[in-house]
Amino acid sequence: MTDTDRVITDVLGRLDGAADEVAALTQQLIRVPTVNPPGDAYRPCVELLGRRLAARGFEVRTVRAVGTPGDDDRHPRVNLVARRDGDGPGACVHFNGHIDVVPAGRGWTVEPFAGTIADGRVYGRGACDMKGGLAAAIVALEAVLAAGVRFGGALEVSATVDEESGGYGGVGWLAREGWFTPPRVDHVIIPEPLDVDRVCIGHRGVWWAEIETLGRTAHGSMPFLGDCAVRHMAAVLARIERDLMPRLATRQTRMPVVPEGARCSTLNFNALHGGLPEDRTGLPAPMVPDSCRLVVDRRYLIEESPEAVRGELVALLDGLAAERPGFRYRLSDVLAFAPTMTDPAAPVVRAVGDGIARVLGRPATEVVSPGTYDQKHIVRVGTLKDCIAYGPGRLELAHQPDEWVAIDDMVAAAKVMALATLTLLGVTGAGRA
Ligand SMILES: [Zn+2]
Repeated sequence: MTDTDRVITDVLGRLDGAADEVAALTQQLIRVPTVNPPGDAYRPCVELLGRRLAARGFEVRTVRAVGTPGDDDRHPRVNLVARRDGDGPGACVHFNGHIDVVPAGRGWTVEPFAGTIADGRVYGRGACDMKGGLAAAIVALEAVLAAGVRFGGALEVSATVDEESGGYGGVGWLAREGWFTPPRVDHVIIPEPLDVDRVCIGHRGVWWAEIETLGRTAHGSMPFLGDCAVRHMAAVLARIERDLMPRLATRQTRMPVVPEGARCSTLNFNALHGGLPEDRTGLPAPMVPDSCRLVVDRRYLIEESPEAVRGELVALLDGLAAERPGFRYRLSDVLAFAPTMTDPAAPVVRAVGDGIARVLGRPATEVVSPGTYDQKHIVRVGTLKDCIAYGPGRLELAHQPDEWVAIDDMVAAAKVMALATLTLLGVTGAGRA
């Protein structure tokens, strides 16, 4: 047995015995209700993780994203970056998990913030998305350190906020401040719930836009005296249905997006509103609406450019303006993130893939996420290319009532993450069977 083999056996053995540990940490994290919006309890959650990592020799820093959306003294956007330097120069391996969770919503049969353990699962809001993944990553690094592995470079863990609302006060902020700019960091793994045998190498692009059609108000009993903005919007909806949606459906990508249905371009109508305000009381006034607003959610492919995506919608609207009397519109951008896809031959993809093969005895599947996550900030703003998502839990359970993560899956994912860490730190052969 070589030294490397001994180290690997030691680390995997420790993780075999870590099921209670990883479940307990997940439970602790779920019990801090970091609900976003509005961004509750970020500070106590970051402090909990900070205390734990400081006890393992990490240098712990908290970084507040001052002035980002929602940041105020009641809901400060506080992030944690913890670093443990090795004995010399080398690569920095970084695990990033978001601590915010979406509101519990209805339909739960267990208490959403209790972290109930039953049938080998931890239940609660954030169990799979993604407190279980963050707990698995931390326990993985603890096993590496407890085994006394000597390494150059550094291990880092960041616990960040606001992923569910775009990441501006979390990874977006850290990326802008240089925390994800090489050579400070070399490899990033985001333990989002993509399942234990899948490596997520990127995501589709997203563009949200608001279209407003304009009209002229008049008495509702004489609509011919006005110009109804809702009717103009109906024409927009019909035109998108007839001309754009079939075209998007035929546009297939080489990105391995899952589920299969998202392997083409898509468009959703996120919101539609016209006429009197929705929160009015009493009967509606008889008015011809002079404004109607539609929010479209356009998801696009690495083969498409953001300019072309915007351009085809503009062309559709201009076409209507040319043929439809009185048609006027405004188009405004709400949110935009380009698609990103890490090279399947990149070190972090290989290291995690080898770890999966060794731990699970089956090859890893490379996938791309239909929706974006924090990788966009790390790659586009931080300019760090060697980034993936890998973690326990099933994406379909995210944001659902009775969300859960399997304890076995957390242990398996922790083993994969530990092996990948050893490989990326240069403890060679860690991932090989
Ligand atoms: Zn998530």
